[in-house]
Amino acid sequence: MSSVPIPPAPPVTNARVASALLALADAEPPGARPAVEYRSAAATLRQLPDELHGRRIHLGGLPHVTPRAADAIAAFLSCGSDESVGDRLSALLDREDPASERKREYLSRADVDRILAAPEGISPADLRADVHLHTDRSDGTIPLAELHRALAGRGDRYALLTDHARDLAVAGGLHAGDFAAQARELERLNARTGEEFGMLLGAEANIAEDGTIDVLPANVPVLAAVVASVHTELRGPKDQTARLVRAVERPGVAILGHPKGRLYNMRTGVRASWDRVFAAAAERGVAIEVNGCPERQDLPPSLARTALAAGCLFALTSDAHAHRHLAFQRFSLAIARLAGIPAARVVNAWPRERFEEWLEERRQG
Ligand SMILES: [Zn+2]
Ligand SMILES: [Zn+2]
Repeated sequence: MSSVPIPPAPPVTNARVASALLALADAEPPGARPAVEYRSAAATLRQLPDELHGRRIHLGGLPHVTPRAADAIAAFLSCGSDESVGDRLSALLDREDPASERKREYLSRADVDRILAAPEGISPADLRADVHLHTDRSDGTIPLAELHRALAGRGDRYALLTDHARDLAVAGGLHAGDFAAQARELERLNARTGEEFGMLLGAEANIAEDGTIDVLPANVPVLAAVVASVHTELRGPKDQTARLVRAVERPGVAILGHPKGRLYNMRTGVRASWDRVFAAAAERGVAIEVNGCPERQDLPPSLARTALAAGCLFALTSDAHAHRHLAFQRFSLAIARLAGIPAARVVNAWPRERFEEWLEERRQG
């Protein structure tokens, strides 16, 4: 397995301070002023391009950082190391941070920029496409024509559109007829960009608790393939190996989307024997998603390493629901670098013809 030299993190990271601020917020009565302030400051820290440690800046001048939050940040920064931040936090809370597991292995924007600054490893230039994208037809905000223009304009060569199907109650969603309408619109849009850029029609399918899938090329033939993801039963202690294995074995499933279903500071996601899930995916040639949404970052680097060792393919995606989310692919690239994933294993780093051939193979099962 290749391992890429990554520049060292500062002794105290924005990610660690943000996590500590959230622990302070969680210890306050919900909705209380300090809780709101700590949460806003944590969000700011997770999005800053530069690490704060060692910089002489006015913390109160940062966006959404109140004097109270600035004091807390300063105190954590002065701890000297991420580990000491943990000790200080435990002293303040009078116990260990009960949510630490739900914030483990999440990168801040500053982490991502640092990791991608290393000269070696998979890089933004390796990616030719984004293959997990939503429009305003399901739960996103971008009209299809605008998404198409944005991706073509930034130099992508192809894309896979993946709005939700109707069955997924949380997300609006499309009927078979709506997918047919998307196919017609894509035909028009793709005619304009020709060889330069083409968007393929897929969907984000939902994996039900028994492993069945709500939308597949078999019932909506206009779809090239689907990203299949779990959106329910994400907190229970039940082992979900069979559910995930069944999903990746279904013809028409090309990508296993956000496999854990984890969310930052909310839930750690499903339990499964990941070796078995990844072995099934590798066997079928189904790609494992590294979802770059900052709140998801799913898979985390340690599991991505396990998937790599199992022989899996990967898809590095943004799961964009809005224009500014298109940049989230950088998070998935940074995770791929931490896991040592080479571009050759990343399906959306392949040329368009190869990607389309691979989709066709997934359709055939
Ligand atoms: Zn999803
Ligand atoms: Zn999605």
